[in-house]
Amino acid sequence: MNKILVIGSLNADLVVRALRFPSPGETIQGENLVTVPGGKGANQAISAARLGAQVAMIGRVGADSFGSTLINNLKQNKVDADRVIKDGSSATGTAVIVVDSQGQNSIILSPGANAKVTPSDISPGSFSGCSLLLLQLEIPIETVIHSANLAREKGLLILLNPAPARNLPDDLLRTADYILPNETELGLLTGKPVNDLASVGTAGRSLLARGAKNIIVTLGAQGALIVNQDSVKLTPSFKVNVVDTTAAGDAFIGGLAVRLLNGKSLEDAVQYACACGALAVTKFGAQPSLPTAEDVNKIINT
Ligand code: ADP
Repeated sequence: MNKILVIGSLNADLVVRALRFPSPGETIQGENLVTVPGGKGANQAISAARLGAQVAMIGRVGADSFGSTLINNLKQNKVDADRVIKDGSSATGTAVIVVDSQGQNSIILSPGANAKVTPSDISPGSFSGCSLLLLQLEIPIETVIHSANLAREKGLLILLNPAPARNLPDDLLRTADYILPNETELGLLTGKPVNDLASVGTAGRSLLARGAKNIIVTLGAQGALIVNQDSVKLTPSFKVNVVDTTAAGDAFIGGLAVRLLNGKSLEDAVQYACACGALAVTKFGAQPSLPTAEDVNKIINT
């Protein structure tokens, strides 16, 4: 009864570096293709598992080689992947990513099998043995809403990462215990300008007015802002050498989930999550940069 359940996306990230982006109709040469396991759901599941939690994932991949690779990758990271379905009617979700010589990304996301995770995949029994549910928005919104409602009935703690950003029904904002956007997502979610700490606080409070209980906004190098009825409180980030900011948010969310699952206070959990996010930016790549509990304890105790 102490497991984290992630209902979400698995993607194969196909990355090619090139000097510049091709123009329409043009072919240019790139470096060797690198295939990296990704998807916000899988990243967050692995983040929590590396930090020592028991984690299970529900999702869909295609019946292709990418799908097998992604399932094996979850297993290697000790995530229970028994309920990740191989869907013969779809390709595995992929992100086709071109990186130019300035380090800028251009991405085409093909949701593939992630778009086939339907409410019928999730039943009350899906939550047995689990006390915390992690959701993102890379699967259909009906499935997110259905999962949150069932999890509420079952008494799980519900964390919702509204990414990629979109408008959300107030019911879903009310059902989640914690809403976890970054600054950009908060702006898109609320339709409010978000450009400094004061405006982040104002936008966060507008979600409280719509029924949300706790909003934790990640602010990159600045840390994270907790917004709830009690207070608006900044937790500063740890100072680190930045190598690659990919997956900082996923590392943060995994850390937060693990600490809340273990009954720690929100302040403690956010500080721990900031340490996880900070460590993730010190290494290249998404999943390879997700820290272990040992890594986090070192940075917190120094
Ligand atoms: P996302 O990856 O979703 O855009 P953020 O960039 O806000 O999320 O990063 C998530 C968390 O990771 C931040 O709240 C912070 O704690 C940590 N973090 C991110 N960038 C840095 C940085 N440059 N230095 C230290 N910590 C960072």
